[in-house]
Amino acid sequence: MGLFQSVILRTIKRSLKGLNGEKVPFIAGHKLLYTCNLRCQMCPFWRRPDEALLTVDEERKMMDSLADFGVSYMGFEGGEPFLRRDLPEILRESHDRFFTSVVSNGWMLKDRFREVRDYIDHLFVSIDGIGEVHDRLRGVEGSFEKARQGIAVASSEIPVSLSSTITSENTDQVDMIVAFAEEMNVSVSFQIAYNYSTAEKKSPSQSNLKGAITKLLDLKKNGAPILESKEFFESVINSWYNWIGWKCKPWLTLNIDPKGRVVLPCYVLNEYAGSLKVWEIDLPKVWNSVNWEQYETCNKCALSCYLEPSLFNWGDFGMVKEHVIDNVVSYLRG
Ligand code: SF4
Ligand code: SF4
Repeated sequence: MGLFQSVILRTIKRSLKGLNGEKVPFIAGHKLLYTCNLRCQMCPFWRRPDEALLTVDEERKMMDSLADFGVSYMGFEGGEPFLRRDLPEILRESHDRFFTSVVSNGWMLKDRFREVRDYIDHLFVSIDGIGEVHDRLRGVEGSFEKARQGIAVASSEIPVSLSSTITSENTDQVDMIVAFAEEMNVSVSFQIAYNYSTAEKKSPSQSNLKGAITKLLDLKKNGAPILESKEFFESVINSWYNWIGWKCKPWLTLNIDPKGRVVLPCYVLNEYAGSLKVWEIDLPKVWNSVNWEQYETCNKCALSCYLEPSLFNWGDFGMVKEHVIDNVVSYLRG
């Protein structure tokens, strides 16, 4: 069975399980390592030492458990995934089972893209500002130019998006980042920085964020290549400024730390401190023993990997078209 058919089959199975009240994640996010060659101000991960990382065989066992459970989309991140020499082997295993994405800072992309291009369905490259603003936020001079070169190479062969984190330092750059995406002929995804306990506090202020989000919503409505839905930006505005919360469903996104341990209930509340290895436990049982209802009104973060799936409504044709049908059509077109 091809990847596309198996993903559709798992989606149907997940929907059927959902009718019985069972919680099945759609997305799995996996940090392959914490080590990174950049030094982003708002990031807690490069500050952590990596202990023994998973072998390719352990990664395979983990992926088998996730596929059995019903996960359809596997997103790899870090740290910097391209620092792993065995990245192509890991991605090949993933691509056999899941729709596969990677988030990279782009530093090594130009040199290593050829090794992985057949195993990535969507690549995200971090861009937090233009030129010097990006380099300052990422803590290493030259990182913007390296990322730009990597994007140019990769985007000629596979779908690429910029991944941009809105911080207190770049709220005035969001429209320039969208313009840069258009210039590079790629799309762009925005995250709002969360103040992790072990990183610099760079979350944007209420007043600055509102202008940036409103600008992005207008650009989105005017057809800019922004991945987040209009509902995403409206929910951020509503929860931050109008006291109208969104209902969080963190069970749709399962996160796994570099040692293969499940991060519960979400990586914001847990900050990547899992304790149970995915392939050593009864994953559906553990996942469904969590009292998920208590997190529905949390609204502590506005991270798109949690907010966007939480908003998804299969009864809303516009949403299904934008997020499912259009993506499937572009995937089939290659
Ligand atoms: S590139 Fe990513 S992992 Fe590396 S320091 Fe920056 S945010 Fe953290
Ligand atoms: S809103 Fe709360 S429960 Fe939901 S992902 Fe964010 S921190 Fe986690």
